[in-house]
Amino acid sequence: MTDIQELLLSRIRDVRDYPQPGVMFKDITPLLADPEAFGALTDTLAEIAVGNGATKIVGLEARGFILGAPVAVRAGVGFIPVRKAGKLPGATLSQAYDLEYGTAEIEVHAEDLAAGDRVMVIDDVLATGGTAEASLQLIRRAGAEVAGVAVLMELGFLGGRARLEPALAGAPLEALLQV
Ligand code: AMP
Repeated sequence: MTDIQELLLSRIRDVRDYPQPGVMFKDITPLLADPEAFGALTDTLAEIAVGNGATKIVGLEARGFILGAPVAVRAGVGFIPVRKAGKLPGATLSQAYDLEYGTAEIEVHAEDLAAGDRVMVIDDVLATGGTAEASLQLIRRAGAEVAGVAVLMELGFLGGRARLEPALAGAPLEALLQV
């Protein structure tokens, strides 16, 4: 493990049985409160975005906003929020996806993505991959290209990487930490 990975891991708090029994919640608030760790995370994700030729950053509500916004500024590209349904005021594209029980829906402002954009999706945790997969479908439906997905932490035992593979279509999935 690199020094940066050790620093990042040391600032993530495991909260057992939150928000429901059986879930080990990965709380990144200690990392956000530490400027050295938050800065290192921002720099690393920005390097990945620039290295993959991203021209836009998509952040997934809500922690993807906190991580993605400074990454976009550092990378010198625009930031686009992908939100839960009903939160964006303008004309949107929507994508529904399956959860373990039921479905969810995310949206993006249609005018924010266009042909010629190369989009990097950023979030804190990749779990089942459902949210990230739906975001890639939104990006492609808007006519833009996928530059990749970058997350702080991948929960490998949930199989998100395999679920994302078809939607990635060869674009990279970068996880700074694996659990
Ligand atoms: P998924 O669509 O299953 O990959 O879930 C991804 C979303 O849920 C991400 O935006 C994460 O922030 C959040 N999430 C899922 N599982 C966890 C966890 N164990 N700890 C923290 N966040 C999680």
